[in-house]
Amino acid sequence: MRVMETARPTAPPIVAAWETTRACGYRCLHCRADAQPHALPGQLTGDEARRMLGQMGEGFPGGTLILTGGDPLLRADLPEMAAHATASGLRVALTPSATPSVTRRRLAELRDAGVRQVAISIDGATPEVHDGMRGINGSFARSLRILAMARELGLPVQVNSTVTRVTEPGLEALAEVVRGVQPVMWSVFFLVAVGRGRLDDMLSAEEHERAFHRIADLAETLPFRVKVTEAPPYRRVLAERGAAVLPPPVTGGRGFMFIAHDGVVSPSGFLPVAAGNVRDTSPVDIYRNGEIFRAIRDPERLGGKCRVCEYREVCGGSRARAWAVTGDPLAADPTCVHVPAALTAA
Ligand code: SF4
Repeated sequence: MRVMETARPTAPPIVAAWETTRACGYRCLHCRADAQPHALPGQLTGDEARRMLGQMGEGFPGGTLILTGGDPLLRADLPEMAAHATASGLRVALTPSATPSVTRRRLAELRDAGVRQVAISIDGATPEVHDGMRGINGSFARSLRILAMARELGLPVQVNSTVTRVTEPGLEALAEVVRGVQPVMWSVFFLVAVGRGRLDDMLSAEEHERAFHRIADLAETLPFRVKVTEAPPYRRVLAERGAAVLPPPVTGGRGFMFIAHDGVVSPSGFLPVAAGNVRDTSPVDIYRNGEIFRAIRDPERLGGKCRVCEYREVCGGSRARAWAVTGDPLAADPTCVHVPAALTAA
């Protein structure tokens, strides 16, 4: 096996996502947050959020903070939060829901407050597929309008796409739609059965494998970065295809952390295993020392075939998908076809 670059397990998070609110005007079929029309009780106050952002800036200087939700634009103090995070040394990105709340004025206000990138979801190449996933007619067209508006305002854009049984057949056509948007990055997320996401909508192991190769083929031709989210075995596939250098492993607990609307910290929004709360502990401390974070970063604690796999440092499996399917976040990734060499040796 080739020697691959991997992230140091104790390196600070490259990316932290903050669920600023669970409120959202949409009710997407696969919503991780099971978002509701109104904010839930217990949402972090402005003072609590400012303290958290200051601690993150100090502990993870230069790290990326994603303002997410729900719909972050339904949080009234969002520009102030973006400005505080920026002043604290964080690079701020925004993932609004594509609702009428995203206007030119509000995007400009957030840009001026320090937002450096805007990500919008497009899940299918046609309005039928995308609007069907979102449950809102006109959502596809609105997403394209918001992306164009952000670019006109000088904001680099990212497209997020969710791969499910419904969207997987159209990956190549979707790539062409994404190409037309001229993003700096396409983030392809493989569904985890969390929140409103259902096990039936997730791809099988064989379907994951075929999709990984199709995405790797596309990535070789597209003029922007293609990032695969919540599917670490994609890194194994890239290694098998001969990649000399792999993208850094940014996945739940390894270079990534998630802060829920009520301050609860977990490895990712798709692995909601609580490690602490920013109301009483610094997010930096939770990321470094929280039990689930330490367990995920220790390959010796992985279960099943992942523990003995020659790719466990490069990949390590999706801990969120293991949790969603088996209830054990350290179990073998149930959607990986690979059979480790240690298990095939005579
Ligand atoms: S067996 Fe586990 S560690 Fe190995 S490639 Fe598959 S998911 Fe990754």
